[in-house]
Amino acid sequence: MAQKNDRSSRIRGFQALNHEERLKAVAEFAGLEPDALDPLRDTGNLPFPLADRLVENVIGTMTVPIGIATNMLVDGRDVLVPMATEESSVIAAVCNAAKQCRETGGFTTSTTAPQMIAQIQLVEVPDPELARQKILKRREAIKKLCDRQDPLLVELGGGLADIEVRVLETAGGSMVITHLIVDTRDAMGANAVNTMAEALAPKIAEWTGGRVYLRILSNLADRRLARAHAIWSLDAIATAELSGEAVRDGILSASHFAAADPYRAATHNKGIMNGVTAVVLATGNDTRAIEAGAHAYAARSGRYTSLSRWESTADGDLVGVLELPLAVGTVGGATKLHPTARLCLEIMGIETAEALQRVIAAVGLAQNFAALKALATVGVQHGHMRLHAQNIALMAGAVGDEVTAVAEAMVARGTVRQDVAAQELARLRDGGSK
Ligand code: NAD
Repeated sequence: MAQKNDRSSRIRGFQALNHEERLKAVAEFAGLEPDALDPLRDTGNLPFPLADRLVENVIGTMTVPIGIATNMLVDGRDVLVPMATEESSVIAAVCNAAKQCRETGGFTTSTTAPQMIAQIQLVEVPDPELARQKILKRREAIKKLCDRQDPLLVELGGGLADIEVRVLETAGGSMVITHLIVDTRDAMGANAVNTMAEALAPKIAEWTGGRVYLRILSNLADRRLARAHAIWSLDAIATAELSGEAVRDGILSASHFAAADPYRAATHNKGIMNGVTAVVLATGNDTRAIEAGAHAYAARSGRYTSLSRWESTADGDLVGVLELPLAVGTVGGATKLHPTARLCLEIMGIETAEALQRVIAAVGLAQNFAALKALATVGVQHGHMRLHAQNIALMAGAVGDEVTAVAEAMVARGTVRQDVAAQELARLRDGGSK
């Protein structure tokens, strides 16, 4: 329904309203019947009071399905991985990819230390190099001040690990950028490092005579990397139509294409992030932080490229390697507060951020394998078709058993479109007479 122009979005005190009052205000503004907002009254597995504490002006929740990736063998441990995604085929793809590398040992992973970087921007310094030296020589004082901000983190073995200071030439003149390198243990660490940066900033201004502006973490978490690799034997990847060699060579060619071309690399990496983001979301972690970090890392050489590499082993088998920053936590943010996020960690038997990183990297690699194999063989639409057809059938108004019937009819016709779904639905409801 079109909204009336005399409505104003300037709603005073919206935040102070309770759930029903907020829904009423929104319904009035949008010209909707109060009942039309019913889907927002059911907040599912996130009770309203909790949702209302996590973010502002809450009117409801957006539920997405959580599916389980089976067959995952990570560092010799079998793990069921919960994935939260609205995209069809993503979870099935991981199950298939993981099944095909079980005989060759599954996924082997590694991580770096859980170090995050906070940046402090210093401007208007007459001698940037001298300012840099002044900051660097106070490393011990900086460590004491930063560690004082988070005694619990220090007690757990984290805290300030190091500093770096860079002189940056910018369109706005020279800037002196201090990096606080902080071990954040099992926390993603944004709040932890931001607090340290804010506490230290006035000291940096005092020591150097400059002016401090930004004090915030960098999402390019290139000191918090996770890697996964796996081998797929030629027997395991052979299909009914193609030999293992042919599948392998198609995947290698796709990998070379992605490494050389940013247009292809963006889609290649999106496929990896289909898996990564789904586990990040299921565990209540910050999906935007992970996406920003991954894509920035993919462009670290100055040219955007693929996050994974694919090669042939000496025996001719296929090997894939994925490396990306994964600033995830098992404490902090919504990870401990959201009951479903906590449950997802329990399903995986995971307590530490490092263990979570390892599983996520493995899922990213599995997803990449599945996408490349499909692309290099039958194309992605083949696998997508059946699930996609069901979504289109739903959009055309099919309900209950009609959904599968309409979807199958479209797949049989080889055309999955909403107008075709509407035709098939009409035919079905008409007793199949048309
Ligand atoms: P947090 O501050 O909620 O929790 C971290 C704290 O938990 C630590 O500082 C420590 O004192 C304590 N802690 C208890 N047990 C711990 C353990 N085993 N390991 C480590 N610390 C432990 O959370 P956070 O991780 O600092 O911040 C994450 C949140 O910040 C997310 O919600 C994220 O969305 C948000 N955020 C992100 C950005 C960004 O990405 N640019 C910026 C600001 C905020």
